[in-house]
Amino acid sequence: MGELLVGQKALVTGASSGIGYGIARAMADAGAAVAINYHSERDEAEELAETIRTAGGEAIALKADVSKEEEVERLFGQSIANFGTLDILVANAGIQKDAPLAEMSLADWRKVLEVNLGGQFLCAKRAVAEFLRRGSVPEVSRATGKIICISSVHDVIPWAGHINYAASKGGIQMMMKSLAQEVAHHRIRVNAIAPGAIRTAINRAAWSTSKAEQKLLKLIPYGRVGEVEDVAKAAVWLASDEADYITGTTLYIDGGMMLYPGFRDNG
Ligand code: NAP
Repeated sequence: MGELLVGQKALVTGASSGIGYGIARAMADAGAAVAINYHSERDEAEELAETIRTAGGEAIALKADVSKEEEVERLFGQSIANFGTLDILVANAGIQKDAPLAEMSLADWRKVLEVNLGGQFLCAKRAVAEFLRRGSVPEVSRATGKIICISSVHDVIPWAGHINYAASKGGIQMMMKSLAQEVAHHRIRVNAIAPGAIRTAINRAAWSTSKAEQKLLKLIPYGRVGEVEDVAKAAVWLASDEADYITGTTLYIDGGMMLYPGFRDNG
């Protein structure tokens, strides 16, 4: 990814696995110093930080539950203490707790909303405060700060059996747009990336057998399951000055999942 993020400091939440891991690695490859947040998988986060440092980059692994305000405060405090400031937040941490409505507990409804939507709110709030404290540094980036919210195609596509998850992602869309509107005059850019089906632990059941993968592929016109790198490369670009005029937008990275593939043969 060349030099797109040289001199910039990034914090990626939920970076011990899957998409967050891939984004943290790609941002480091593009020259950013990276704070790798994890929740439970310490070893994966520490190993990634070590890999980045061995390659000559700057990285630190930091534990925090993004749904807890005091832990988010500590996460940003440690990150900024290490790197001096923050230029990029990738609010990626997310979970699923699936069940049909009748079997979904209030606890599981709340947990998914608290982590997926509340966690992004807490992190965005803290990131904007740091962007404003530091102000614009044009030699580093044309923008005063960049936030990328990791959403999902389920910010638009309804998903039976996953109403807590779909509600959290739908909420991210309006939070992202409203915040983008609120802070654009500070030259802070806020965007979302909405992945389709990307091969990670969160959806292992959907791709781990060839029968499951064939079923999944019916939803993907482009004919392959997405890989973490498909999202990571786009995140680097979206955070970079190459995308300086982009704010309040959702970038769908889904192999065409949003194209209503069920209608393909019904013309
Ligand atoms: P994943 O492999 O399961 O990774 C989830 C990450 O979130 C892990 O690093 C996990 O940390 C972290 N996490 C969970 N709860 C947390 C908390 N309370 N505080 C901080 N971190 C927490 O899943 P993924 O597929 O990469 O998902 C990443 C994001 O992409 C999610 O927002 C998900 O909704 C979104 N997404 C994924 C897909 C897909 O097809 N994979 C599609 C659309 C959207 P630990 O492992 O350390 O606990």
